[in-house]
Amino acid sequence: MNIGQEVLKELKEEITETEYNRYIKQLVYDVKKSTSDLAVFYAPNALISNWIKSKYTEKISHLFERKNNTKVSVKFLLVNQKNERISTQKILQKVQHSLLNPSHTFDNFMVGGSNQFAYAAVKSVSEQAGKVYNPLFIYGGVGLGKTHLMQAAGNVFQNQGKIVIYTTVEQFLNEFIRHLRNKNMERFQEKYRKCDVLLIDDIQFLSNKEAVQEEFFHTFEALKGTGKQIIITADKHPKQIAGLEKRLQSRFEWGLVADIQPPELETKIAIIEKKCEINKVTLSKDIINYIATVIESNVREIEGILSKLHAYSQLMHVDIDLKFTKNVLKDQIQENRANLTLDNITQDVAKNLNIKPSEIRSKGRTRNLVYARRITIYLCRELTQNTMPQLAQYFNMKDHTAISHTLKKINELMKNDEDFKVKIKELTNKIATSN
Ligand code: ADP
Ligand code: MG
Repeated sequence: MNIGQEVLKELKEEITETEYNRYIKQLVYDVKKSTSDLAVFYAPNALISNWIKSKYTEKISHLFERKNNTKVSVKFLLVNQKNERISTQKILQKVQHSLLNPSHTFDNFMVGGSNQFAYAAVKSVSEQAGKVYNPLFIYGGVGLGKTHLMQAAGNVFQNQGKIVIYTTVEQFLNEFIRHLRNKNMERFQEKYRKCDVLLIDDIQFLSNKEAVQEEFFHTFEALKGTGKQIIITADKHPKQIAGLEKRLQSRFEWGLVADIQPPELETKIAIIEKKCEINKVTLSKDIINYIATVIESNVREIEGILSKLHAYSQLMHVDIDLKFTKNVLKDQIQENRANLTLDNITQDVAKNLNIKPSEIRSKGRTRNLVYARRITIYLCRELTQNTMPQLAQYFNMKDHTAISHTLKKINELMKNDEDFKVKIKELTNKIATSN
C-alpha cells in the first residue's frame, strides 16, 4: 500500500461509509507525480473532484502531514488530464463498482439455519454466473443480510473483472427519470444492458410504478437473454408484492426464490463475535449473550450497538462490563419496542394463528382461543410497557390476577416444553420485526 492509499484508508475511518464509497473511494493516488510535499490524486469527473476538493482537501493534507512531518499540498486532476498509466476504463469500472461495500463478503457472513438456504443459493450463483439460478430472488425482513449477501456475490464477480452494477430501485428510478428528462435514454439502456451482473436491491419499491417497471422488464429480458446474472432482493415473495406486473412477477420466479429468516440465538452470537472481530471490539461472553437476546432480529442494530458501546466506554473511560452494557442498551430496547402496540401484537398473533383479532379479545373458551389469548398476553407483557391492570382491561378479563395467572401458565409451559419455548421465541422475533 502506498502512502496515498494509506491516507485514504485513514480518512475512511473518519467519514461515513456512504461518503467514502461515493467519493473518496474513487480517487486514485499518483505515486509518480506526487512528491514529499505534493500529493496528486485522480478523480473520475469534475463533480467528484470539486466535491472532494471543497470538503476534504484540508483533512487529506493534514493526514499526509501527520505521516511525513512536512506540509503537503493536495492536488486533484481529472482522469482526462491523465497520465497514461491510469486507464479510463479502469476508472469507469471503479465508478460503477463504487457502491459495493468491500466488507460484504461471504467470509464475513455468518451462516445458520435461518439463512443457510439463501447463503447456499448466492454462493452457488457466485461460482457460476448466469448458469444456475437466473434470476436469483432473495427475500426477507429488514436487516437480515439480503444486501450483504447480494454484494458478497458482487464482490466475487468484481474481483474476476466483471462489470457489476449494484443499484437500489430508488437509484434506478432516479436515473431513469433523469435520462428521460434529458432525452438520452439510450445511455441509460446501454449502461444497464452492457453490464455482466446486475444486482438490484429492494425491488418491492417498483410497486405501482408502471413506467419504470416497463423499462426494468426490458432490461431484465436483455440481460437474461444474453445469460447475464441478475440478483434481486425484496422484503416479500414476488407473489406478495402488490402492484407488480404479472410478467415481472412470473419472471422473478423463473430462477430460484430463497428466503432469509430472522437469525436464531446461536447465529446472532456468531454475528456479534464476527462484528467484534471486524471492529476490533473485545466483549466478554456474557455481554455478547446479552446483546444477542436483546436484539430481536435486525442485525443492522448490532453494529450500532457495538459502536455505541465502544464510543461510550472511550468517552467515559470505563471498561465495557455487563452493567454498563445494560445501561447503554436501555434506550435501544425502549426504542425498538416503542412502536409495538397491544393492537398490532394482537393482530399479528391472530394472523399467525389464523384467527380473528376480535376472537382473541373475546371470552371464547375453545382450546385454540385460550392458547392464542395466552400467547398474546405474554407477548404484550414482554414487548410493551403496559401494566397488568391495563392488560386485563384490554383483554376483557376480570382483573390483574387473571393476567398474572396467564403469565405464570406460559412461563411454566416454556420451562417444561422446549418446542413451545422455541415457538414463542420465534413468534416474538417475527412480531418484533414486522412492526
Ligand atoms: P438487509 O439488506 O436484509 O436489510 P443488510 O444486508 O443490510 O440487511 O444487513 C444489515 C447488517 O447486518 C449489515 O451490516 C450486514 O453485514 C449484517 N449482517 C446481516 N446478516 C449477517 C450475517 N449472517 N453475518 C454477518 N453479518 C450480517
Ligand atoms: Mg438491504
